[in-house]
Amino acid sequence: MDPIQRLTELFEKFPGIGPRQAGRFVQYLLRSAPAIRRELADSVQLLAQSARQCTSCMRFHGEKGKVCSLCANSARDTALLTVVASDADLAALERSGTYSGYYFVLGGTISLASEKMTGLRHKQLLDGLQERIQKGLQEVILAFPANPEGDATAIRLKEEIGRKYADLRITTLGRGLSTGSELEYADAETLKNALAGRK
Ligand SMILES: [Zn+2]
Repeated sequence: MDPIQRLTELFEKFPGIGPRQAGRFVQYLLRSAPAIRRELADSVQLLAQSARQCTSCMRFHGEKGKVCSLCANSARDTALLTVVASDADLAALERSGTYSGYYFVLGGTISLASEKMTGLRHKQLLDGLQERIQKGLQEVILAFPANPEGDATAIRLKEEIGRKYADLRITTLGRGLSTGSELEYADAETLKNALAGRK
């Protein structure tokens, strides 16, 4: 296949990228210095070789250990665990600098069409809570996007966690977040208020 066509089709598979944008990426690469193309190719290669999923929070990281540096950091607050939909949402909360507990990445939100939790790591979350409770966990913060899918996921998880671990406090973010907004696009101040206003 024509290499230009081939790469355009690969870029089109990226989330939120249409054929026109994909074409522009390829044009950019055609105009770029060979070193830039090489760096991109090497980075993709390296990603496959050395990025791994943390066995504790389930986010992807490029560090050496089995657990990521956040989960390995014993200075964080073991009383708090925040459940987020995606790695990007975790990164946004971490950037806001107002949260010092641990995280768990659920891997998405419930699809309202099926109301199923297919592909989500809720079982893994529930199974891991016992060990976290032994280490001091008191509160699970459900931090999902402010949309119907996020709300449905929070309701379902609250039920499931509450059924198994009645003593845990389960909270959701305060609605400082504007409706429909993804955590990853919220600014630090908004996230700080949403965390402070959790209930
Ligand atoms: Zn981790």
